[in-house]
Amino acid sequence: MDLSTLLSDTLAGHRLTEEEGRFLLGATSGRDLFAIAAAADERRRERVGERVTFVRNQNLHVTNICKNTCGFCGFGRSPGAPGTYLFGEEEVRQKASLARERGVTEICPLSGVHPDFTLDTYVDLITWILEGAPGVDVHFCSPEEVSFVAAKAGISTIEVLKRLREAGLGTLQGTAAEILVDEVRRVICPRKCDTATWLCVIREAHAMGIRSTATIMYGAGETVADRVRHLALLREVQDEYGGFTELVPLTFIHQNTPLYRAGRAPPGATGREDLLLIAVARLFLDNFDHVQVSWGKVGPKMASLLLLAGGDDLGGTMFEDEVTVEAGAGEASYMDPATMARIAADLGRTLWQRSTTYDLLREEPSP
Ligand code: SF4
Repeated sequence: MDLSTLLSDTLAGHRLTEEEGRFLLGATSGRDLFAIAAAADERRRERVGERVTFVRNQNLHVTNICKNTCGFCGFGRSPGAPGTYLFGEEEVRQKASLARERGVTEICPLSGVHPDFTLDTYVDLITWILEGAPGVDVHFCSPEEVSFVAAKAGISTIEVLKRLREAGLGTLQGTAAEILVDEVRRVICPRKCDTATWLCVIREAHAMGIRSTATIMYGAGETVADRVRHLALLREVQDEYGGFTELVPLTFIHQNTPLYRAGRAPPGATGREDLLLIAVARLFLDNFDHVQVSWGKVGPKMASLLLLAGGDDLGGTMFEDEVTVEAGAGEASYMDPATMARIAADLGRTLWQRSTTYDLLREEPSP
């Protein structure tokens, strides 16, 4: 396969096949890698111009007790394990009010899947958050959580989605996707829903007009072919409904995870893999407008490079990210928009505040 022909054909409108995606993700020389990144940068410029976007958001941790205890996660703990917590109504309302005082437009409850949670718990949480912070986008519930509470309640996942929407759900979290290949899921997250269930719930949500992010958690031992299969599934769903707001690549933070400690996962992706994942995703996902750079996972310097390789969004200000901190990344809790603006300006671009669904919220660049 000739790389420069493939890249020029792709920029001219050719849709990459999975075989071609695998070829691109396997690049190892600097010349090839930077050619792919340059093509992705060009596609990004055509698609969204010179804007770097961000959302003022706040993660809200409700509990770290989790029925799933996935091997790649350093955050979720079994019930009764040391260091567990579960916040109640008062704390959730207080955290939501504090978020409102900080001017956030999005609150992301980010928690373990508590074995005692029911649909009513999720409805209550949405209600408390919206009472504490009226008008925010409550970006909540993965397909895993939707299918979990549906099975508990003995109702369909569509019914669950309807109830969540009635309670005020803004957008659905596209988390729990990890790698949408069941052989991989059986190793890294065997208690989570399978690929078919994840895709089914996402399709149902998008068909109802509930939008979601799309995530990929990579670097925990899956193959290049698995990564491309995952991207291909996301592209198929996006062709049907256009409901994904963006791709959120999440590089595996390995240090404190059971899988790594047991010698069953590598120490995360390399810098080459991080760069290629963003670049190839930008080229492969020709029906996505936005590719996010997760500064909390890769750090601000790598984030800057990834914005040159197809990324266009810096995600959220966050304020809390125990999921990443507990897995071993030290810099994950908050990034000031002024720092984001400096990163964007260094690349000759400007920073713009957006909503969860990418409406620009100000007529001027930030801050
Ligand atoms: S990744 Fe999510 S579901 Fe898995 S153990 Fe961690 S908190 Fe629980």
